[in-house]
Amino acid sequence: MSDCLFCKIAAGEIPSNKVYEDDLCYAFYDIAPQAPVHFLVIPKAHIASVSDVTEANSAVVAHIFTVISKLAKELGLESYRVVSNIGEQAGQSVFHLHFHVLSGRDMTWPPG
Ligand code: 5GP
Ligand code: ZN
Repeated sequence: MSDCLFCKIAAGEIPSNKVYEDDLCYAFYDIAPQAPVHFLVIPKAHIASVSDVTEANSAVVAHIFTVISKLAKELGLESYRVVSNIGEQAGQSVFHLHFHVLSGRDMTWPPG
């Protein structure tokens, strides 16, 4: 999508601090980290949120979770949280599917 911030980041048109990249997904550190480790993993193809995941496009979601598992091991994360906000009330501010990976501090449950 031409006016999507995360499409532009995935395409390298807007700079980011890259963690990992392959043909299907891109991982980069969050610009406003909410934990000592906070990065985002996104599909390169535009999907607006979990609400737009379908049988036709869900393979990338499975792939992203294998990437998260691999990156967590590589970064030595023993405990971490994976979050995806869907819709404004839940806190979604960028409408391109992304999974937050947060680690390095105590976290509360339930979330605020
Ligand atoms: P959401 O609020 O949609 O769940 O998460 C969007 C995340 O994207 C936020 O944590 C926000 O800090 C991050 N973000 C917004 N703009 C940029 C940017 O230009 N670069 C990076 N690296 N992160 C961004
Ligand atoms: Zn996008």
